[in-house]
Amino acid sequence: RVWPSSAYTRVTLESNRTLKYKQFMLTNPDRLVVDIDDIQLNSVLKTVSQQFQSDDPLIKEARIGQFDPKTVRLVLELKQATNPKVFTLDPIAEFKHRLVLDLYPAVGRYDNAEDPLLALLEDYNKGDLESKLPSEAPLAGKAGRDRPLVIMLDPGHGGEDPGAIGKNRTREKDIVLQIARRLRSLIEREPNMKAYMTRNEDVFIPLRVRVAKARKQRADLFVSIHADAFTNRAARGSSVFALSKKGATSTAARFLAETQNESDLIGGVGMSGDRYLDHTLFDLVQTATISDSLKFGGEILKRLGRVNKLHKNKVDQAGFAVLKAPD
Ligand SMILES: [Zn+2]
Repeated sequence: RVWPSSAYTRVTLESNRTLKYKQFMLTNPDRLVVDIDDIQLNSVLKTVSQQFQSDDPLIKEARIGQFDPKTVRLVLELKQATNPKVFTLDPIAEFKHRLVLDLYPAVGRYDNAEDPLLALLEDYNKGDLESKLPSEAPLAGKAGRDRPLVIMLDPGHGGEDPGAIGKNRTREKDIVLQIARRLRSLIEREPNMKAYMTRNEDVFIPLRVRVAKARKQRADLFVSIHADAFTNRAARGSSVFALSKKGATSTAARFLAETQNESDLIGGVGMSGDRYLDHTLFDLVQTATISDSLKFGGEILKRLGRVNKLHKNKVDQAGFAVLKAPD
């Protein structure tokens, strides 16, 4: 499968067993070569070159062949200098063993970035952000009164992750993207609100990057939109979730470890450098955030109840990864 997007291109090969591989780059022209061990070229692999579209921003063409009796060689000819990240993923849900080739444009800092996808997506958002907000202005003042209320809409899933599949083969990733786009245009009509989206195309965005994008733009509100399935087809109705206390505490330690050495902000409170004080501040901010989320979620639920059946009359709580940023 090939998922080109404006930010990066993902190529996925899926197999019944672990794929062993070696990768290297060649120049003149720039090529990424991936040798896959212990497999034979089959009818599916032979169609690889047809999976690529000519408008892919990074890949000019793909070739595949049986390099030697035990090795299949995949050659991606590149349109520009590219920074590939090749890795395997273990089976999960309906996916089997996967060999993933993520290709990023090799633009200076991405090559050295710890997380090239995050660095790239930050830049990718910048143009949009700078045209709407005064540059470098801190988001001080009361949201919605002194400055726009910043809302990050997060259409779930995307790219090779389709989310739930409906009985007419509709895909959750498409439905939630349309909902988010419509919601964004409604929000844009409000005079003192500004909406962003974690994705506005059919692209896979890791959960941590979704959260990072919201924090980067100092969003006041993060709304993740899903259209999930259940084992029982009779299930109907809407629900609203906030982060659970349990999900929150399990991430506090790791979050603190990650940000310990940075002058990061936790909900406007600077890290003190003292482990116990930081932990207390984190807890205070997150507790306040959960409490706000429950109030806000209750308002959404009330309004949803006017247009749809509800699962429950109160906001549910669970440890969703995208809700774990304290602020
Ligand atoms: Zn979902």
